[in-house]
Amino acid sequence: MTRPRLLNPATAGAVFALIRDGAATTRTQIADKTGLSRTAVAARLATLVHAGLVAEADDGSTGVGRPPARLSFNAAAGVVLAAAVGRSRTQVAVCDLAGKIIASRDVEQEIGLGPEELMPRVARELTSALSRARHTKDSVRGIGLSIPGTVNPRTLTSNASPIMSGWDGVGLDRYFGSFAHAPVFLENDTNVIALAERGAHLAAHDDALIVKASTGFGAGIVAGGVLQHGAVGAAGEIGHVKYSASRGRLCRCGETGCLEAVAGGWALVRNMRERGHNVEHIRDVASLAVAGDTDARDEIRASARHFGRVLAAAVTLLNPAIIVVGGDMTPAYDVFVAGLRETLYRDASTIATRDLTIVAATHGTLSGVRGCATLALDHVLSVQAIDAAVR
Ligand SMILES: [Zn+2]
Repeated sequence: MTRPRLLNPATAGAVFALIRDGAATTRTQIADKTGLSRTAVAARLATLVHAGLVAEADDGSTGVGRPPARLSFNAAAGVVLAAAVGRSRTQVAVCDLAGKIIASRDVEQEIGLGPEELMPRVARELTSALSRARHTKDSVRGIGLSIPGTVNPRTLTSNASPIMSGWDGVGLDRYFGSFAHAPVFLENDTNVIALAERGAHLAAHDDALIVKASTGFGAGIVAGGVLQHGAVGAAGEIGHVKYSASRGRLCRCGETGCLEAVAGGWALVRNMRERGHNVEHIRDVASLAVAGDTDARDEIRASARHFGRVLAAAVTLLNPAIIVVGGDMTPAYDVFVAGLRETLYRDASTIATRDLTIVAATHGTLSGVRGCATLALDHVLSVQAIDAAVR
């Protein structure tokens, strides 16, 4: 029987993907996996080595004859920029092509800034992080960006988000013109946490719920290994489910009776102030809880109990294998999850929770910015993008 011929001969981008994933480290392995001739493998590799994306080195053995050269992905061949925009804080980072953070910074901001006020500052912070990372704008291959609420990744805009007033319809790529040719990619703030888990918790689970417990609540849905966005990209806005205990309470989205109005981070800040604590942000409440403050621990646990009741419906509906908890409440993860378990396991169907695992986000409060880097890398290192870049 003859070996089946590949209809689409493996391109340079496909060869790169094998090396990047560690699926091939020698020329022989590439030939075996792709069916390419030795000459064709050599041509693809010459292109990738010239582009700086692949390094080829002797493996150091000193036996008789020439040892096979070892191929590796050169993660230092460029950088991607990441910016996780929040309501009161934006995290920026410069990452290598493997997604490792080289330089990063947290930027505090007033709540409610519009894009004209905030985004030029984000671009300036990225420029200064880039110089701290000892890279120039020429080495920027892409920019990954996240914002709260619903986004349109095609137009790079916030999409009818009541909590990001002034942002709707504003194309966010316009603020990154100084990074010459780098393409900009946009995702929702909870979905980037899911992207950051791909090589971690999601490596072993195709069905997951990623929850962000922060100033607001969000959920990222991974079903059958695919991140779900919904019909208009609005999947996962779980903080604005109407909830009986919130009846009559005004939400920051302009409606009344949302889950967030009684249990979101901003509501906890309100409650803590009413109890006489000088707190500005849910991060302050989480810090107090970690330090053992009884009021802060009560508030976070109560918040999680409310969240668990709403999440029970989602768990019963989607039957995830794992729930990953991220966001600004995660420093107080133990307190939060204790509350979550109380109501989630009580209210969800027994079968859906039987083998359910609940874990903290792998990268903690850096999960968002790590996910933004992953978002950009997914695009700029895709087979198609590499083929276009070396053409
Ligand atoms: Zn709301």
